[in-house]
Amino acid sequence: MSRSVLVTGGNRGIGLAIARAFAEAGDKVAITYRSGDPAELEKLGLLAVKCDITDGEQVEQAYKEIEDKHGPVEVLVANAGVTKDQLLMRMSEEDFTSVLDTNLTGTFRVVKRANRGMLRARKGRVVLISSVVGLLGSAGQANYAASKAGLVGFARSLARELGSRNITFNVVAPGFVDTDMTQALTDEQRAGIVAQVPLGRYAQVEEIAGVVKFLTSDDASYITGAVIPVDGGLGMGH
Ligand code: NDP
Repeated sequence: MSRSVLVTGGNRGIGLAIARAFAEAGDKVAITYRSGDPAELEKLGLLAVKCDITDGEQVEQAYKEIEDKHGPVEVLVANAGVTKDQLLMRMSEEDFTSVLDTNLTGTFRVVKRANRGMLRARKGRVVLISSVVGLLGSAGQANYAASKAGLVGFARSLARELGSRNITFNVVAPGFVDTDMTQALTDEQRAGIVAQVPLGRYAQVEEIAGVVKFLTSDDASYITGAVIPVDGGLGMGH
């Protein structure tokens, strides 16, 4: 059955791999983008909707466009996220609040809006993309780690609040994945990370996408409030 799926930040990296996995399975997939060429994304069969998730009005407009073209969102993957790394003593309040505003409050905005349709349908699947860093912590990433840890409490609260409406909320916590975000690291930092990962390598984006897809499948119908690590063993299940 073809579902209406939305992946935020689905124009590149992990989000694009997730969007492609759903599209290949026959779902109607919308993605949000801020940068890049929407024509390239449309060629992949994706509905590209311009949206900055820090702006509630843009979120509302994006949902209207998606509902118009694909119907109410049945599967939401809140993937958009940013880093602004800095040691605490050099971290400005803006460095902190801007990361929280995208990663945590931005997720709140898109989840809240998706739930309007899900409540009406009395079913829905929501997957939030957190990070191993939210559970283990990371020096120089207090803002990012706080935002990603916040997603766990957020998802688990909603799992309790909306379980009776047949809406599941789960969190995927990737380890280090080969994308633009990690390309920003130095070779030395990358080697240091790989040395701590039992599987001895970075994840490929498809390895995250597969787990997200599983969490929205019928096989995962009794899973909610879970945090699934996809980190090559780095967090040992946390
Ligand atoms: P990228 O930096 O490659 O992509 C980030 C995505 O988020 C882009 O699509 C970007 O859109 C979007 N985005 C950022 N800010 C906003 C915003 N305000 N509104 C809408 N979209 C926004 O990151 P990854 O693919 O690596 O990461 C995807 C998710 O996975 C993130 O949440 C990240 O924290 C998480 N993650 C990544 C890991 C990794 O090792 N790479 C590890 C663990 C978690 P645009 O192109 O317009 O900027």
